[in-house]
Amino acid sequence: MSKLVIVGTVAFDAIETPFGKTDKILGGAATFIGLAASHFNIELAAVSVVGGDFPQEYLDLLSNKNINIDGIEIIKEGKTFFWSGKYHNDMNSRDTLATELNVLADFNPSVPDSFKNAEFVMLGNLHPLVQLSVLEQMQQKPKLVVLDTMNFWMDCALEDLKKVIGKVDVITINDEEARQLSGEYSLVVAARKIHEMGPKYVVIKKGEHGALLFHKENVFFAPALPLEEVFDPTGAGDTFAGGFIGYLANTNDISFENMKNAIIYGSTLASFCVEKFGTERMIQLSQDEIYKRLKQFKNLTQFDIALT
Ligand code: AMP
Repeated sequence: MSKLVIVGTVAFDAIETPFGKTDKILGGAATFIGLAASHFNIELAAVSVVGGDFPQEYLDLLSNKNINIDGIEIIKEGKTFFWSGKYHNDMNSRDTLATELNVLADFNPSVPDSFKNAEFVMLGNLHPLVQLSVLEQMQQKPKLVVLDTMNFWMDCALEDLKKVIGKVDVITINDEEARQLSGEYSLVVAARKIHEMGPKYVVIKKGEHGALLFHKENVFFAPALPLEEVFDPTGAGDTFAGGFIGYLANTNDISFENMKNAIIYGSTLASFCVEKFGTERMIQLSQDEIYKRLKQFKNLTQFDIALT
């Protein structure tokens, strides 16, 4: 069975959408990635840090999903990372209202010994030096390293971010961030420039408009599943990444062809994430629901055109 190490934030989020508002709820990149990846037959561990204010019940929730939490450090006297965001009416864009690093500010990650030989590593959103440190702790070169990041780190730690981008196989990034990182408006040109920075595969997420996978001269596109209602997009990108790497780890196949399926899995899982606030929908999600939606996805994208 493949092993997957995930590093990222485990957080409190406060979210405002046109449909309502939450107080501090469970969030964080590693949380969403872990919940998505927990649907695969793999061993997974989360590496992160929380404060003494983080409820034990949230940690239990992650362990009950078979996520090894030995690498989640608890700083009793510290406060958990806090993020707050407000979505615009179209739900495609949001303003960050607060990012309080708290315990994340001086975090030294520690990969559990039993996961130092993991074949798959997901560098979820947090400080690029923390992502680098996780990579350096691996005993051997992993089979696949996927990186996710966001504009916040481009704004405040670009040089460190470029170092880590140079060491990964796949980067997942949203369209606006791809433009910011490359300085190019065209996503095709942006992907080419990002390739040149290191990653052999570039995945550009376009929210409700799907995702693009670039590898050399090949491009694959998958739409997002058209949903009647999008309630809260928070964590959709992380859920996508968790589904993507979870599927690759489960199948132990990192070919471009298999990455196409991984994109479909990622998109399918992300389509659930947005249906309720925060992690609520992902916590309740069943294998049967995933299977049904994968079938819907297949019907949505399959056609048989005669080209003579
Ligand atoms: P997404 O909607 O996929 O971009 O992910 C949202 C999640 O990312 C939230 O649960 C936040 O806690 C977390 N997050 C927001 N800003 C940051 C940041 N600067 N670094 C790491 N995680 C963040």
